[in-house]
Amino acid sequence: MLLANVVLDIQSSSLNKPFTYIAPKNASVGKLVMVPFGHQYKCGFIVDVFDGEGDNLKKIKKIVSKSYFDEDSIEFAKFISTRYMAPLASCIRLFTPPGSIAKCKKIDGEWQLIEPQVKETFEDYVLADDNFKNFVPRDNAVKQRQIIHALKQGEVKKSELALEYGSVTQVLKSLEAEGVVKIERRRRIRDVKTNIEQVKDFDLTDGQKDALNIIKNSGNRKFVIDGITGSGKTEIYIRAIQEELKKEKSAIVLVPEISLTPQTVARFRSRFGDTVAVLHSKMSAGERFDQWDLLLQGQAKVVVGARSALFAPVKNLGIIVIDEEHESSYKQESLPRYVTRDCAEYLADQKNAKLILGSATPSIEALYKTEYNPEWTRIFLPERTNKLPMPKIKVVDMGMEFKSGSTALFSQTLKHELEQTISKGQKAVLLHNRRGFANYMFCRECGYIPMCDHCSTSLTYHARLQTENGAREMLMCHHCGHLEFPTAKCPKCGSPYFAKLGAGTQSVEDQLHELFPDVKIVRMDADTTRKKDGHLKCLEEFAMPGPAVLLGTQMIAKGLDFDDVTLVGVILADTNLSLPDFRSEERTFNLISQVAGRAGRANLPGRVVVQTYNPDNNSIRCAANYDRSSFLSEQFQKRELLKYPPYTRLINLIVYANNEDDAESATKDLCEHLNRYNAAYDFNWDISGPNVCVLAKIRGQYRYHILIKSSSGDKLSDDLSKIMEKYKTRKNISLQIDVDPTSLY
Ligand code: ADP
Ligand code: ZN
Ligand code: ZN
Repeated sequence: MLLANVVLDIQSSSLNKPFTYIAPKNASVGKLVMVPFGHQYKCGFIVDVFDGEGDNLKKIKKIVSKSYFDEDSIEFAKFISTRYMAPLASCIRLFTPPGSIAKCKKIDGEWQLIEPQVKETFEDYVLADDNFKNFVPRDNAVKQRQIIHALKQGEVKKSELALEYGSVTQVLKSLEAEGVVKIERRRRIRDVKTNIEQVKDFDLTDGQKDALNIIKNSGNRKFVIDGITGSGKTEIYIRAIQEELKKEKSAIVLVPEISLTPQTVARFRSRFGDTVAVLHSKMSAGERFDQWDLLLQGQAKVVVGARSALFAPVKNLGIIVIDEEHESSYKQESLPRYVTRDCAEYLADQKNAKLILGSATPSIEALYKTEYNPEWTRIFLPERTNKLPMPKIKVVDMGMEFKSGSTALFSQTLKHELEQTISKGQKAVLLHNRRGFANYMFCRECGYIPMCDHCSTSLTYHARLQTENGAREMLMCHHCGHLEFPTAKCPKCGSPYFAKLGAGTQSVEDQLHELFPDVKIVRMDADTTRKKDGHLKCLEEFAMPGPAVLLGTQMIAKGLDFDDVTLVGVILADTNLSLPDFRSEERTFNLISQVAGRAGRANLPGRVVVQTYNPDNNSIRCAANYDRSSFLSEQFQKRELLKYPPYTRLINLIVYANNEDDAESATKDLCEHLNRYNAAYDFNWDISGPNVCVLAKIRGQYRYHILIKSSSGDKLSDDLSKIMEKYKTRKNISLQIDVDPTSLY
């Protein structure tokens, strides 16, 4: 008897195990099915089909879909489920067509299948049939004549005929009955618009040649391309993909969502044409569905997409490329909370495919692999393709500016450089990194930020923190829980200008308008780019000839490629430093390096001005001198000393509750549980908590967390799962487990 194991499409870890049903003949792995479950019906995915005894088993009621995925994908889903402690159903969902899974629902006492909204669309085509040539329409049959006439030019879409001549259904029916025309129903593919540019065919630079040579001949499969901005990494990806396509293999190219612009897609489409499918979240559900389906059918061989495109149904995978590998958006912040880089490595191993991580500032995690794991190779590209030097970076000490009487957000230097740029008719890009604003104390005279003595992270400002003595204004370390009272004056220099800081992009724009009333200013932030093409509109406006200033959040740090941008300004480089996160310095360094690469891309020399209150901070000093090796060696030492990733792994457990006491007491209880088993099993974890989260309240929910640090490597998730099985999560809280977190607040 044919049996099938089915994982129900229900996002609960208690349902990670499949259930066995009697299966019809056409059952196969990857199909969605409707099955009885208790007194209900549910949808689920077939993960296994085999012969066996079916006594006491129920039957699959209905096969709902074609096969979406294969056995390899199930193994991959299980890996993600285990490693990131996520319900198996949520991991299997990664491999299914976007927004298009049927559900079971009881309607009027009967269980029914609710078909998804998004599905295949079709288009009717009208073609000439056998009797077309000899057919003579009657004189008074006007519509017939019109249709016959139109068809003489070749096949026509029915919808086009209808648009031209009104309703044609009846006429076509009778013509079809007489064998004059035939109607063919064909799949219609929804797609994003891209302008395909003519490709410049250039000779590869020596650096590019060497890189490709290593990728082709080194015997290794995994690479980090460590190449400065403008060094021509994309061309390397394209050629490496071409090699794989020649071998009938396919490719996955991942790009951060915000740099997945039509220009990016066009670069790949202009090389690979119709074999490129595109997948990202700003596409309509229908577009995504169709692009996904092209891959499943094997018509598309290259997918360019955001992180989830890693799970697209490509056939015969040969290569995976992750561009801007260091970007934090490669961590999924909802279930399953996977790290794209690590999942990509699993997939590359499973398929024996190549993996290329590319960045001007590769993550410390990626570099660690090339340093300690012989399977990985690091490839350097230290030169821009146009041989131009990187622009000079000028660091402006805002504390000094303040002392000399300036209280504005714009230093004299930046103001002067802006004037120069504009008077020459050139363009400037200003970065205003809003992240981290307003929740830390900061001295406007000396730039001092209160730090935790134990954790090397900044203390977070809380206007009202619950303590034993009631709500208090407090500074807190979100790693170890250390508390301090904020002082009225700067503890370092005694300045009274010691307060919390804040300024939105809007207010920066206002100040800019005051300084340069006649200059075009384009603001690009979450507000102005919310709409589907908002991002593009901003860039188009900025690209128009003549002087202009583009003011934006971190989303402008990459992908911008304008010849006449000669000045880049960073309004305040310190904002990341203020966050209580061991990656703060890395992010600061990366941001400055990336944004500097936006200036002077063509023949005009570029300049960069970085404003900061921490001119001596290592990340800022090294970035300004393009001294990444010093920066990295310091970071590696620090991380090793303080036992941070990549030397250890972290798991962040976050407790949410409607009531603060519930959140706190549940977290305390969980923490005791963890400590008890940590000791009993000799895991040697470093457990810190319970602590209130930096973002102590989100959407009305109070948040507490526990941070686990461990050196036990890949075992960590399994070990924690074992402990969590013995724990009963309280009903009045929800628990979020974040393995390998990117954000700690
Ligand atoms: P990266 O991704 O490393 O920042 P890009 O791939 O965007 O760099 O390349 C930077 C610019 O150099 C692009 O405009 C690209 O068209 C151009 N380019 C790439 N390779 C070459 C080459 N071999 N010769 C000339 N120009 C090149
Ligand atoms: Zn001070
Ligand atoms: Zn601390």
